[in-house]
Amino acid sequence: MSIKNAIEAIKEKLHNNVTLVAVSKTQSTSSIMEAYMAGQRVFGENKIQEMTEKWEQLPKDIQWHMIGHVQRNKVKFMAPYVSLIHGVDSFKLLKEINKQAEKNNRVISCLLQLHIAQETTKFGLSKDELFTILHAEETTQLSHIKIVGLMGMASFTSNTKQIEQEFLALQNSYTEAQKITNKNIAITVLSMGMSNDFQLATKYGSTLVRIGSAIFGKRMYKK
Ligand SMILES: *Cc1c(COP(=O)(O)O)cnc(C)c1O
Repeated sequence: MSIKNAIEAIKEKLHNNVTLVAVSKTQSTSSIMEAYMAGQRVFGENKIQEMTEKWEQLPKDIQWHMIGHVQRNKVKFMAPYVSLIHGVDSFKLLKEINKQAEKNNRVISCLLQLHIAQETTKFGLSKDELFTILHAEETTQLSHIKIVGLMGMASFTSNTKQIEQEFLALQNSYTEAQKITNKNIAITVLSMGMSNDFQLATKYGSTLVRIGSAIFGKRMYKK
Protein backbone atom coordinates (compact mmCIF):
# COMPACT_ATOMS: atom_id res chain seq x y z
CA MET A 1 0.00 0.00 0.00
CA SER A 2 1.28 3.49 -0.74
CA ILE A 3 1.84 5.94 2.10
CA LYS A 4 -1.01 8.06 0.77
CA ASN A 5 -3.44 5.13 0.72
CA ALA A 6 -2.37 4.04 4.18
CA ILE A 7 -3.04 7.50 5.61
CA GLU A 8 -6.44 7.64 3.94
CA ALA A 9 -7.36 4.17 5.23
CA ILE A 10 -6.43 5.15 8.80
CA LYS A 11 -8.29 8.46 8.59
CA GLU A 12 -11.44 6.63 7.54
CA LYS A 13 -11.28 4.73 10.81
CA LEU A 14 -10.81 7.87 12.91
CA HIS A 15 -13.44 10.36 14.01
CA ASN A 16 -12.83 13.95 12.99
CA ASN A 17 -11.87 14.93 16.52
CA VAL A 18 -8.92 12.50 16.63
CA THR A 19 -5.55 13.81 15.43
CA LEU A 20 -3.24 11.52 13.51
CA VAL A 21 0.45 11.82 14.34
CA ALA A 22 2.49 10.10 11.65
CA VAL A 23 5.41 8.52 13.47
CA SER A 24 8.32 9.03 11.10
CA LYS A 25 11.25 7.88 13.25
CA THR A 26 13.91 6.15 11.11
CA GLN A 27 11.99 7.11 7.94
CA SER A 28 13.65 9.09 5.15
CA THR A 29 12.75 12.67 4.30
CA SER A 30 11.39 11.43 0.97
CA SER A 31 8.92 9.11 2.75
CA ILE A 32 7.91 12.02 4.98
CA MET A 33 7.39 14.18 1.89
CA GLU A 34 5.14 11.49 0.45
CA ALA A 35 2.96 11.74 3.54
CA TYR A 36 3.16 15.53 3.37
CA MET A 37 1.92 15.51 -0.22
CA ALA A 38 -1.03 13.43 0.99
CA GLY A 39 -1.92 16.27 3.34
CA GLN A 40 -0.28 15.03 6.56
CA ARG A 41 1.23 17.85 8.65
CA VAL A 42 1.81 16.33 12.08
CA PHE A 43 4.83 14.05 12.51
CA GLY A 44 6.26 12.30 15.55
CA GLU A 45 9.90 11.48 16.23
CA ASN A 46 11.59 9.85 19.20
CA LYS A 47 15.12 11.24 18.89
CA ILE A 48 15.77 14.96 19.20
CA GLN A 49 18.78 15.02 16.89
CA GLU A 50 17.00 13.12 14.12
CA MET A 51 13.91 15.33 14.46
CA THR A 52 16.01 18.50 14.30
CA GLU A 53 17.79 17.37 11.12
CA LYS A 54 14.42 16.66 9.51
CA TRP A 55 12.96 19.97 10.70
CA GLU A 56 15.88 21.78 9.04
CA GLN A 57 15.32 20.02 5.71
CA LEU A 58 11.54 19.84 5.44
CA PRO A 59 8.68 22.35 4.94
CA LYS A 60 8.21 24.69 7.85
CA ASP A 61 4.46 24.14 8.20
CA ILE A 62 5.10 20.64 9.58
CA GLN A 63 4.26 20.29 13.26
CA TRP A 64 6.90 18.20 15.01
CA HIS A 65 5.94 16.14 18.05
CA MET A 66 8.58 14.63 20.33
CA ILE A 67 7.13 11.27 21.37
CA GLY A 68 10.24 9.64 22.86
CA HIS A 69 12.01 9.83 26.18
CA VAL A 70 13.55 13.29 26.56
CA GLN A 71 17.00 13.93 27.99
CA ARG A 72 17.13 17.28 29.72
CA ASN A 73 20.42 18.36 28.12
CA LYS A 74 18.89 18.03 24.63
CA VAL A 75 15.73 20.10 25.14
CA LYS A 76 17.53 23.20 23.85
CA PHE A 77 17.88 21.71 20.36
CA MET A 78 14.12 21.36 19.81
CA ALA A 79 12.93 24.36 21.84
CA PRO A 80 12.92 26.71 18.82
CA TYR A 81 10.38 24.68 16.87
CA VAL A 82 8.84 21.65 18.65
CA SER A 83 5.05 21.83 18.72
CA LEU A 84 4.22 19.20 21.38
CA ILE A 85 6.36 17.16 23.78
CA HIS A 86 4.53 13.94 24.72
CA GLY A 87 6.88 12.23 27.15
CA VAL A 88 7.26 14.62 30.07
CA ASP A 89 7.94 12.43 33.08
CA SER A 90 9.43 14.70 35.75
CA PHE A 91 9.11 18.17 37.19
CA LYS A 92 12.82 18.74 36.51
CA LEU A 93 12.20 18.15 32.80
CA LEU A 94 9.22 20.51 32.83
CA LYS A 95 11.45 23.19 34.38
CA GLU A 96 14.09 22.73 31.71
CA ILE A 97 11.50 22.93 28.92
CA ASN A 98 10.18 26.13 30.52
CA LYS A 99 13.69 27.61 30.62
CA GLN A 100 14.46 26.81 26.99
CA ALA A 101 11.03 27.96 25.84
CA GLU A 102 11.60 31.30 27.56
CA LYS A 103 14.96 31.71 25.78
CA ASN A 104 13.11 31.25 22.51
CA ASN A 105 10.21 33.49 23.43
CA ARG A 106 7.80 30.60 23.15
CA VAL A 107 5.26 28.71 25.20
CA ILE A 108 5.76 24.98 24.63
CA SER A 109 2.84 22.57 24.95
CA CYS A 110 3.52 19.41 26.93
CA LEU A 111 1.83 16.14 27.78
CA LEU A 112 2.57 14.33 31.02
CA GLN A 113 3.37 10.68 30.43
CA LEU A 114 1.61 8.26 32.74
CA HIS A 115 3.03 4.79 33.26
CA ILE A 116 0.20 2.38 32.43
CA ALA A 117 1.99 -0.72 31.08
CA GLN A 118 2.93 -3.70 33.16
CA GLU A 119 6.47 -3.73 31.82
CA THR A 120 8.93 -1.87 34.01
CA THR A 121 10.85 -0.70 30.96
CA LYS A 122 8.32 1.89 29.82
CA PHE A 123 8.89 5.41 31.09
CA GLY A 124 6.31 7.51 32.81
CA LEU A 125 4.90 8.95 36.01
CA SER A 126 2.88 7.06 38.58
CA LYS A 127 -0.62 8.39 39.16
CA ASP A 128 0.51 9.97 42.43
CA GLU A 129 3.45 11.70 40.79
CA LEU A 130 1.18 12.94 37.99
CA PHE A 131 -1.28 14.62 40.34
CA THR A 132 1.50 15.99 42.52
CA ILE A 133 2.83 17.87 39.47
CA LEU A 134 -0.65 19.02 38.42
CA HIS A 135 -1.44 20.39 41.90
CA ALA A 136 1.97 21.88 42.71
CA GLU A 137 2.24 25.61 43.23
CA GLU A 138 5.67 25.45 41.53
CA THR A 139 4.01 24.19 38.32
CA THR A 140 1.84 27.30 38.04
CA GLN A 141 5.00 29.42 38.03
CA LEU A 142 6.28 27.90 34.78
CA SER A 143 4.92 30.57 32.46
CA HIS A 144 6.52 29.23 29.26
CA ILE A 145 4.98 25.77 29.28
CA LYS A 146 1.41 24.68 28.96
CA ILE A 147 0.28 21.25 30.14
CA VAL A 148 -2.37 20.27 27.60
CA GLY A 149 -2.87 16.57 28.27
CA LEU A 150 -1.66 13.08 29.05
CA MET A 151 0.15 10.39 27.11
CA GLY A 152 0.54 6.67 27.70
CA MET A 153 1.74 3.47 26.09
CA ALA A 154 0.02 0.15 26.66
CA SER A 155 1.94 -3.06 27.26
CA PHE A 156 3.39 -4.82 24.25
CA THR A 157 1.05 -7.81 24.33
CA SER A 158 -1.61 -9.50 22.25
CA ASN A 159 -3.85 -9.68 25.34
CA THR A 160 -6.63 -7.26 24.38
CA LYS A 161 -8.19 -7.36 27.85
CA GLN A 162 -4.99 -6.13 29.40
CA ILE A 163 -4.56 -3.34 26.85
CA GLU A 164 -8.16 -2.28 27.48
CA GLN A 165 -7.56 -2.13 31.22
CA GLU A 166 -4.51 0.04 30.69
CA PHE A 167 -6.37 2.39 28.34
CA LEU A 168 -9.23 2.60 30.83
CA ALA A 169 -6.82 3.50 33.63
CA LEU A 170 -5.37 6.28 31.49
CA GLN A 171 -8.83 7.52 30.51
CA ASN A 172 -9.82 7.70 34.20
CA SER A 173 -6.73 9.74 35.07
CA TYR A 174 -7.43 11.97 32.08
CA THR A 175 -11.01 12.65 33.21
CA GLU A 176 -9.76 13.43 36.70
CA ALA A 177 -6.97 15.68 35.42
CA GLN A 178 -9.42 17.67 33.29
CA LYS A 179 -10.92 19.07 36.49
CA ILE A 180 -7.66 20.84 37.25
CA THR A 181 -7.26 24.13 35.43
CA ASN A 182 -5.10 27.16 35.97
CA LYS A 183 -2.90 29.58 34.01
CA ASN A 184 -0.83 26.89 32.36
CA ILE A 185 -2.93 23.74 32.71
CA ALA A 186 -5.84 22.94 30.40
CA ILE A 187 -6.17 19.24 29.69
CA THR A 188 -7.75 18.50 26.31
CA VAL A 189 -5.38 15.99 24.70
CA LEU A 190 -5.19 12.27 25.35
CA SER A 191 -2.33 10.71 23.38
CA MET A 192 -2.81 6.95 23.24
CA GLY A 193 -2.90 4.29 20.56
CA MET A 194 -0.38 3.06 18.00
CA SER A 195 -0.61 1.00 14.76
CA ASN A 196 -1.85 -2.14 16.48
CA ASP A 197 -4.22 -0.69 19.04
CA PHE A 198 -5.42 2.72 17.86
CA GLN A 199 -9.01 1.70 17.26
CA LEU A 200 -9.22 0.32 20.77
CA ALA A 201 -7.60 3.50 22.10
CA THR A 202 -10.21 5.75 20.51
CA LYS A 203 -12.94 3.73 22.24
CA TYR A 204 -11.35 4.86 25.49
CA GLY A 205 -11.30 8.51 24.56
CA SER A 206 -8.00 8.96 22.76
CA THR A 207 -7.82 12.32 20.93
CA LEU A 208 -4.44 11.75 19.33
CA VAL A 209 -3.04 8.52 17.90
CA ARG A 210 0.64 7.91 17.14
CA ILE A 211 0.95 5.68 14.09
CA GLY A 212 4.17 4.60 12.39
CA SER A 213 4.36 1.19 10.79
CA ALA A 214 0.76 1.18 9.55
CA ILE A 215 1.68 4.23 7.44
CA PHE A 216 5.31 3.73 6.47
CA GLY A 217 5.64 -0.05 6.74
CA LYS A 218 8.11 -1.84 8.96
CA ARG A 219 10.93 0.28 10.33
CA MET A 220 14.51 -0.47 9.30
CA TYR A 221 16.89 0.19 12.16
CA LYS A 222 20.43 1.14 11.35
CA LYS A 223 22.99 -0.60 13.56
C1 LIG B 1 7.39 4.14 17.55
C2 LIG B 1 6.33 4.72 18.42
C3 LIG B 1 5.00 4.73 17.98
C4 LIG B 1 4.52 4.13 16.67
O1 LIG B 1 4.56 2.76 16.71
P1 LIG B 1 3.89 1.87 15.51
O2 LIG B 1 3.66 0.57 16.15
O3 LIG B 1 4.90 1.82 14.43
O4 LIG B 1 2.65 2.56 15.09
C5 LIG B 1 4.06 5.32 18.83
N1 LIG B 1 4.41 5.87 20.00
C6 LIG B 1 5.69 5.88 20.43
C7 LIG B 1 5.99 6.51 21.73
C8 LIG B 1 6.68 5.30 19.66
O5 LIG B 1 7.95 5.30 20.11
